[in-house]
Amino acid sequence: MIVVKFGGTSVGDADAICRAADVVASRLHRAPVVVVSAASGTTTELLGIAEQAARGQLIGALRSVEHIRERHIAMCDVLLRDVPGGPDTAAEIAAMCDEVASLAEALTTLGHITPRSLDAVASFGEQMSALLVTEAFRARGIPAQHVDAREVIVTSDHFNQAEPSLDAISDRARDRVAPMVRAGIIPVLGGYIGATAAGVTTTLGRGGSDYTASLLGAALGADDIEIWTDVDGMLTADPRVVSDAKLISQIRFDEASELASFGAKVLHPNTIAPAVRRGIPVYIYNTRNPARSGTRIMFDAPRRPVTAIAAKGDVTTVRVSAPRMLLAKGFLRSVFEIFERHRTSVDVVSTSEVSVSVTLDDATRLDELLIDLRMLGDVSIERDRAVVAIVGSGIGDRGDCMGRALQALGGMHVHMVSLSASGINLTVVVDGPSMQDAMRSLHAEFFSHEANS
Ligand code: ADP
Ligand code: ASP
Ligand code: MG
Repeated sequence: MIVVKFGGTSVGDADAICRAADVVASRLHRAPVVVVSAASGTTTELLGIAEQAARGQLIGALRSVEHIRERHIAMCDVLLRDVPGGPDTAAEIAAMCDEVASLAEALTTLGHITPRSLDAVASFGEQMSALLVTEAFRARGIPAQHVDAREVIVTSDHFNQAEPSLDAISDRARDRVAPMVRAGIIPVLGGYIGATAAGVTTTLGRGGSDYTASLLGAALGADDIEIWTDVDGMLTADPRVVSDAKLISQIRFDEASELASFGAKVLHPNTIAPAVRRGIPVYIYNTRNPARSGTRIMFDAPRRPVTAIAAKGDVTTVRVSAPRMLLAKGFLRSVFEIFERHRTSVDVVSTSEVSVSVTLDDATRLDELLIDLRMLGDVSIERDRAVVAIVGSGIGDRGDCMGRALQALGGMHVHMVSLSASGINLTVVVDGPSMQDAMRSLHAEFFSHEANS
């Protein structure tokens, strides 16, 4: 049994869904369980609808609902043209759009949104795509059956970023999904969405369909997890930024996990953990180029000094200075306890004699954080910074990486430098607008033919 996940562009139009059907058809002998994202752009549009509606801009919100409806119905028209059940599927999708419209009206009346209502709205992208893909697969002779992911992916009620309940997911996967696989049926589930034990809809966070795939893979004891996307695999950098990024054919779990955490969007950061727990290899393939070998993520890939570069922008740095306190017992713990209390994770940390600096991806709780941090010392905040990470399992063994990295960054303003405790990640914090230049310079330094030795 394998889990096969298709991302947003891989189910973004009728041609893409046909390509996905070909991939699944070529794997029927491996008993695939299919996970699909919302059609590309739909989740962002749905979140925009909720926000617009809550701001009172109902007309604009309803216009976007109509756009989503037209796009999905157009796909139904092409994919289910001569299928007897085609009109029913189109009607079901239209009914879902009506529900989104009703939710938008309710949000306008209320005048504000909660994380819970955002999840309710966002979930419709995957609800629609899972239904449409299932019917399109059936129309192409694949014995697919839709399973509502909310009946399988049980989560906490931490809306927008819900934590999976692993035992409950295993039970539900065993009861709901495994018997279908044994019966030769291909279950199709929407990624990203789940529900609390009480049945309230949740989501796993943006990009979370990869995570759904690995949660299901682990729950079902899959042989492989395949992530089908719009690039050939994990590359040495984001190809949208670095045009000569190269395919990495094999990469270690820890490196892939680190790259995902530091911005390599091709994989959701939480995808790796469930696969590692069960020792399941994860593959990344290109739906547009299925003949390419892709990337295999595994325990024993070769160790390289530098494997890839990743980056994320919109990072906030927080520095707490407390000249008399820093070396006092318990000071650092007090600082980190505050971040923990406010459920804010920190990425890069550096300390000096008199201060500790950290970077935050998510600064939504900054105001509350500041109140507590100011009890410990002077606090300064810088927004619009970027973290660029150089990842390689052998980076700690090589003494020259930091020097080469700083030299490659030339005159750029580097605010923080840190070699991670795991020794596989060297991070630099630069000004946000310099992020792409920093990535290109570092990539040229470590991946131009002569240099990467
Ligand atoms: P999907 O919708 O299939 O989940 P995503 O857009 O979430 O696709 O992820 C794929 C994108 O990730 C690629 O188009 C690419 O721009 C980006 N990306 C960032 N870093 C990397 C990397 N190191 N290797 C490959 N792709 C990357
Ligand atoms: N559709 C969701 C998103 O856009 C989940 C995913 O694509 O993985 O974030
Ligand atoms: Mg993705």
